[in-house]
Amino acid sequence: MLPVSVPALAPVPHDPDVVIVGAGSAGIAAARRLIAAGARVAMLEARSRIGGRAVTTAIRGHALDLGAHWLHNGPINPLVRLARARKERLRLAPQERHLFIHGREAGRAARAESGRAFAIAERALTLAARDPKDRPAASALPMLGPAGREVRAIHGLISGRPFDEVSLHDVPDMDYADNFFIAGGLGAYIARLAEGLPVALNSPVTEIAFSKQGVSITTANTRLSAKAVLVTVPMAVLQTGAIRFSPTLPATHEAAIHGFTQGVYEHVVLHWPSAPFRGADRLARLSGGRREPPGLLTAIDNTPFHFFELDQPYAAALDGRDTDAPARLVRAVLGEHFGHRAIRDLTVCADTRWRHDPWSRASWAVVPPGLVGNRDILKASVDGRLWFAGEALSRAQWGTVGGAWEEGARAAGEIAGSLALKS
Ligand SMILES: Cc1cc2nc3c(=O)[nH]c(=O)nc-3n(C[C@H](O)[C@H](O)[C@H](O)COP(=O)(O)OP(=O)(O)OC[C@H]3O[C@@H](n4cnc5c(N)ncnc54)[C@H](O)[C@@H]3O)c2cc1C
Repeated sequence: MLPVSVPALAPVPHDPDVVIVGAGSAGIAAARRLIAAGARVAMLEARSRIGGRAVTTAIRGHALDLGAHWLHNGPINPLVRLARARKERLRLAPQERHLFIHGREAGRAARAESGRAFAIAERALTLAARDPKDRPAASALPMLGPAGREVRAIHGLISGRPFDEVSLHDVPDMDYADNFFIAGGLGAYIARLAEGLPVALNSPVTEIAFSKQGVSITTANTRLSAKAVLVTVPMAVLQTGAIRFSPTLPATHEAAIHGFTQGVYEHVVLHWPSAPFRGADRLARLSGGRREPPGLLTAIDNTPFHFFELDQPYAAALDGRDTDAPARLVRAVLGEHFGHRAIRDLTVCADTRWRHDPWSRASWAVVPPGLVGNRDILKASVDGRLWFAGEALSRAQWGTVGGAWEEGARAAGEIAGSLALKS
C-alpha cells in the first residue's frame, strides 16, 4: 500500500561526511541534526519509501497507520515537543476504555476491579524492579484473580512478547496518560519531517568496512566513503547478517545485537460501521469468550476503522497459514463475542506482517531477562567511526518512534562532536 505522504528528497552527495543507513525515525532525526551542524550527509534506505516502521496509508479515503500510531509518553517524547513547535494538530488519547464481558459492556464494578488489578500490578512491578537481580517480568505479578489474565495479556501485547519472556528491569511504562495521536497519521508526520533530506531509496546496504581512517559503505549499485557511518537498521535485520561488517564487530556489540528477541505487534485493520464501540480512539478489551483477543483500538479518529491487535502468540498461530487466515480469525473471535449478526458489515481491510518484512523482521526489539545492558552497550561507537541508533537503544522509550528519534539525535550529536562539527 502506498504512503499518503511522500516527501521531496534531495540527491545524496558523492563525498559525504556521514552515511546514515536507514531512513526511519532514528535516521531522519540524525540526518536533521547532522545537517544542522553543517555535515554533508548521505542516507541509504533499502525500501522504496522513507519512514521505516511508521507509515500512513489511505484506506477508503482515510489516513491509517500500518505501523506506529501513538505518540507515547508526551512529557518526554521529542516528537510531541517538535509537533507542538510545528503547530501540528495533536489530540490527547482518551483515558476511557471499553471492557466487554461476553459481548456486553461491563458494569462499573467489573471496570473498577480491572483498574485496581492494573494499579496493583504496576506497583508490584515497580517495587520488584528495584531488586538488582533481573528476572522474567511476569514473575513479579501478584495473584490478581480473574483480572490477572487481562493484566498479563495487555503487558504481553505492549511488550511484544509473552510477559515471562521480558526483562523485569526493562518493563515499559504503562502510564497511558499523556499519549497523543496526530492528525493525518504518525507515518505521514514522520514523512513530513524528512522533507528535503538527501536519501537514496531502494539502496539496501550489504557491507560496511571501517577503520581508523574512515568507512566504506556498499550497496548493490554504489560504494560510498565517509568519515563516519550511523546504522539505524532494526536489530532483527542485523541478526540475519544482511549487512556484513568488516572487520567483524567487537564481541560485546555482536552479543548485544544477538541478545534481543523479536517483538511482535501487528494490526488487523477493520472497517466496521455498526461496531458497538462508542467514543473515538478507545482501547477495548473483550473478556469471557473462549478466545480473548489481546486488545483493540476502536473508532480510530472517530471513523468506522478499528485495529484488532495481534500479540506474539496470536501472530505466531497465523504463521504458515493462508493469507485470509487473519480475517477469518477476527471474524470468528468477534462473532463469538458479539454474535454473527453483529459483524455482518465488518470488512477486514488489511493485516500487517512486519515480522516477515525483510527490512524490519519484528515490530521492535525486546530484551529478555538479564540482558537489559544490551541497549547501552550499543551506544558506544566502534573505533570512533561506526555508530548505532534506533528504537532498540532507548532505555526510557524503547519500541517507539520517540525513542528512535531520541537515539538518532543522540548518535548524531556524538558524531558531530567527533568530527568537530558544531553539535
Ligand atoms: C504495528 C506496529 C505498531 C507500532 N505502534 C507504535 C506506536 O503506536 N507508537 C510508537 O511510538 N511506536 C510504535 N511502533 C514501533 C515503532 O514503529 C518503531 O519503534 C520505530 O518506528 C522504529 O524506528 P527506527 O528508526 O528505529 O527503525 P525503522 O523505522 O525500522 O527504520 C529503519 C530503516 O532501516 C531500513 N533498512 C533496513 N535494512 C536496511 C539495509 N540493509 N540498508 C538500508 N536500509 C535498511 C528500513 O527499511 C527502515 O526504513 C509500532 C511498530 C509496529 C510494527
